[in-house]
This record gives sequence, structure tokens and C-alpha cells, in this order.
Amino acid sequence: MSQFDEMFDFVVVGSGGGSMCAGLLMRQNGKSVVVLEKTDLIGGSTSRSGGVMWIPNNRFMEADGVADSYEKASTYLEAVSGGRDDTPGSTPERRHTYLIEAPRMLEFLIGQGIKLRRVKSWPDYYDDRPGGSAPGRTVVALNFDVNELGDWKDKLRPGFLPMAASLDEMMQMPRFRRAWDARGIMFKVALRTLGAMLTGKAYVGAGQALQGRMLQASLREGVDIRTQAPVNELIEADGAIKGVVTMKDGKPWRIGARLGVLVNAGGFARNQQMRDQYQPGTRAEWSMTAPGDTGEMIQEMARHGAAIAQMEEMVGYQTTIPPGKEDDAVKPPAQSLTAAPHAILVDRTGVRYQNEGGSYMAYCKGMLERDKIAPAVPSWAIFDSQYVRDYMLGGTMPGAQKPQEWFDKGYLKKAETIEALAHAISIEPAALHATVERFNGFVAQGRDEDFHRGERAYDKWLGDPLSKTAKTLGAISESPFYAVPVVPGDVGTYGGVVTDAHARVLRADGSVISGLYATGVSTASVMGRAYPGAGSSVGPAFTWGYVAAKHAAGAGNA
Ligand SMILES: Cc1cc2nc3c(=O)[nH]c(=O)nc-3n(C[C@H](O)[C@H](O)[C@H](O)COP(=O)(O)OP(=O)(O)OC[C@H]3O[C@@H](n4cnc5c(N)ncnc54)[C@H](O)[C@@H]3O)c2cc1C
Repeated sequence: MSQFDEMFDFVVVGSGGGSMCAGLLMRQNGKSVVVLEKTDLIGGSTSRSGGVMWIPNNRFMEADGVADSYEKASTYLEAVSGGRDDTPGSTPERRHTYLIEAPRMLEFLIGQGIKLRRVKSWPDYYDDRPGGSAPGRTVVALNFDVNELGDWKDKLRPGFLPMAASLDEMMQMPRFRRAWDARGIMFKVALRTLGAMLTGKAYVGAGQALQGRMLQASLREGVDIRTQAPVNELIEADGAIKGVVTMKDGKPWRIGARLGVLVNAGGFARNQQMRDQYQPGTRAEWSMTAPGDTGEMIQEMARHGAAIAQMEEMVGYQTTIPPGKEDDAVKPPAQSLTAAPHAILVDRTGVRYQNEGGSYMAYCKGMLERDKIAPAVPSWAIFDSQYVRDYMLGGTMPGAQKPQEWFDKGYLKKAETIEALAHAISIEPAALHATVERFNGFVAQGRDEDFHRGERAYDKWLGDPLSKTAKTLGAISESPFYAVPVVPGDVGTYGGVVTDAHARVLRADGSVISGLYATGVSTASVMGRAYPGAGSSVGPAFTWGYVAAKHAAGAGNA
């Protein structure tokens, strides 16, 4: 009798970004494939995400006349992620393969009927480096009507954009008080929403749209997709991975894999023990990842000899958590909290210590590094009434009255002078006064001499791209003054098992663990220790899933 209860050509653990992409490739090659998801919802953190993919040299850029090429993107990746010997996930060979295969993966998705487009403006996060792109290299899915999923509708993990608006529209809308085009967008979205209501459609955007479209295509093509199917064990025989142990009807269920097992089971952001081991000082409850991000498959692969690397890395995301929002799946947006004009970030001695306009990963790294010198977790966002009038705060709209509970519970501090504000947050008043004075001096001269905030297209985009004057540098000068705490939250971890250019999992001696592939944040990122641009997690997750399936199916590779 077979040692397995069931056989497939390919088994995918987890329903993350690359899972259904791999499944579709397998089906295109006539292979059977099953996706095993441990939670009761499909889509992982990818469904909860912006769904943005960083795909250099893609067809949408070409169509829009935005210059890019393999060489340009390669120069950029080398400048941002290269030149290190402690990032085995980001070897020159893997970076090369990514740049070749990501645009191919995109073509494959389009061929499978997945509707995608480019975001017109989302600068690379280091656009000032050689090869950087100021317009950006990001691709997203078109909004999706989840009713098209029929009975599967309720099995798709919800995202943060359950409406008939695109990600870029959502980012513009809070500026409606000051910009006619933002008002126009609001009007269009309202009309669209009304139209959807009248025609019985339930549109979602961002990552949920991407994963909804992937789920729809996968079901259509015969990918077997199962929820509440945790994988607890990889089955090894003769030095190769031959299958997995999952659960069926409350009992262990052994599934064999003729061509291989792909692990796409996310990272370990929800596992405090692993965080304490690899990322001390960070907290699972600050993470916005989906609940299944608990790292056991990384441990299981390591148990079978997989090398692990870059485990100290997370995609940090500056986070401020107003009272009552502690348990929200996605915390209020804070990416531009201190990058917008009239705001800065200071440590708890009142000193500004980094460019508040940088990538969220670099920003949170900066907080954790600073904390080794001076208390900086949490840090304080300091801003004035101009900021409150023009920009969002803790999920509330610009200018809106802030909840009394924020003051009562000591979350939002308010004072008539900078000195009084300093007093309220237990900072030496002279220190905070000096910091604000110095920053205001930089604003007056139009140049941040300390941290060069505003010298990249990305900084300005993140601050206030609509502003004719202060795109990111604006004086903190109009009372009352305010402060809220900011912590280094995250949108995922960024280290895991080491894989090669075919997405095969490697041992520490560089040999391949036969039959085992991995993608997404279960792996050490191809981007190394940097975040080159929006979509540097989801883009690689899809791409390495595609690469793994091509290799396992014998369908050619770069
Ligand atoms: C709010 C938010 C916005 C973001 N925006 C972006 C963005 O726009 N672009 C970008 O690149 N990144 C973004 N990120 C980060 C990105 O979403 C994640 O890093 C990425 O989606 C991880 O994808 P993955 O495929 O590796 O895993 P996931 O998409 O998390 O999928 C892993 C799945 O595996 C399942 N699983 C885990 N263990 C097991 C097991 N033992 N057995 C079976 N199943 C298992 C999990 O339950 C989960 O469903 C964002 C994250 C958040 C939270």
C-alpha cells in the first residue's frame, strides 16, 4: 500500500502570493496541483496587502513610455541590494533571474486573464541611486467583484480596500479639502460605488483584488484549493522531500508530491518567540500580517537541513496605534505621518535622528538602531496645527475633530508651545525646542542639511505631492502643537530559507534539498536587506512561485 493517502504532481503549502501563480503554471502544463492553506481563508497577508508588485521593465511601463531596461534595473538592484556577503538570498544570480523572470511572470498572469495595470506614480524608494526610477516600477490588479467567486467569496481573506476605489485613488482622496482633482476622484468613486450597488457588484481593491482574481483563475483551471489544511510536516525519503502531512477531517492526511513541494507559507511576524530570537525589540502585536504568519514552515524546512538567513530583517512599517485600534487587522495608515510637511520624528530625548521620508523598512530600521543609542521605541511624531488641518492622523480625515478618548488616554498630546508639549511627553523642553528650531531653519533654506529629507522623488511623493510649496519640508510653527507615539511595526518579515535561482531550497553547504521549493517571505529575500520599491515582497513571491513551478514541471527557466 502507498505510504500516501493522496497523490498530486505538485503540492503548495500556504495560499500566499506565489501559490496560485505556481498552481496555474502547473495546470497549464497538464499537472495536478493542490494548495493547502491552514486558516479558513485564502490569500494570506498578500490578500491583506496593497497587492503592489515591483516588476522592473514591464509592459505597462513600455506602453506609457517610461524608460526602463534590464540593464537599468540591474544597476539599481546592485546599488540598493548588492555588494554584501551576508545576504545569500540575494546572490547576483538570483537578482539576475528575478529581473528576467518577473516580467515573464507578469506576461504569464496576463495570459491567464488576470487584469493588471501600472500605478502611474510610485517612485522607487531609492530613486536617486543609479538606475532608480522616479515614476516607479509598480503593478497592481484592477478592482475585482468578489461576487464573481460565488460560494468561494467568503473564503477570500479580506483586505483594507473593500470598495470600488483603486489604491492610487484612495491615497489621493484625503486631500479633497485642498485639491479639486481629489474631489473629482471622490465623486468618481461615489458614482462607481452607487453603480456597483445598483448592479449587485461587490468590488474590492488592492491585495484582495489580486488574490481574488488569482483564486478565480485557479478554480477555473482546476487547481485544488483547500482551507483548514495545515501542513505540520514535510515527508522526506532517500534524502528528498516527497510529500507533506496535513489534516483532513481532524486526522493526519499524507499527500505525496511527484514533482515537488512548494512552501509559500509566509514569515514569522506573528511568532513572538521567533521575533525575540531574531528581531529583539519588535512586537508581534504591531504587525499587520495575517494571523497565519507564524513561521512553523521555516522551522520545519530547517529541520530538514535548509539553511536560513536574513532572519533579522523585517519590512518595518511605521505605526501609530490610537486607543481602540490595538486589535485592528490593518492599523491606521502612518507611512507619511512624519514625511508630510509640518512634522518630524524625534527620539525620547527630543532629537531628530533620520530622514522621515525614507522607505518604511529603512525608517523602522532607523528607529531600532537609534534605540541602541537613545530611547527611540516608541519615538514621537511632532507636528503642528497646519499638519492637523491638511493631513490624516491615526485614520481620521484632515481637519477632523480628534476623538476625546485620544486625549483622555494620553495617546494624542496637545500644547500651546513646543516647550509645553515637550513637558507633556517627558522630554527636556530646551532639547525639543532646539530640534524644532533647527528643522524650521532647514525649511527656511529649503534644504535638510542633517538628513536630506526631500531630496528624492520618493520623499516628495510620500509627503505632499500636491503641494506647490512644501512637499515634505514645512515649518512646525503654528500652535497648538501635537505629539503621538510611533512604533516600528511591520508588514512582514523578510528572512527565511535560502533558495537558488530555481527557487529550490538549499542546505548550508549549498546543496539542493531535492523536491523542496520555497517562495515569498518564507525565504531570504532576493532584495537582501533593502526594500527597493513598493511591491518588493509580493512581486518576488509571485515570481519565485512561477520559477519554482516552471522548474518542477520541466517547463524551462531563465
Ligand atoms: C497592510 C499590508 C500592506 C502591504 N502592502 C504590500 C504591497 O503592496 N506590496 C508588497 O510587496 N508587500 C506588501 N505587504 C507585505 C506583503 O503583503 C507580504 O510580505 C507578502 O504578502 C507575503 O506573501 P507570502 O506569499 O510570502 O505569504 P502570505 O501571503 O502571507 O501567505 C502565506 C499563507 O500561508 C499560510 N500558512 C502558514 N503556515 C502554514 C502551514 N503550516 N500550513 C498551511 N498554510 C500555512 C498562511 O496562513 C498564509 O495564508 C503588505 C502587508 C500588509 C500587512
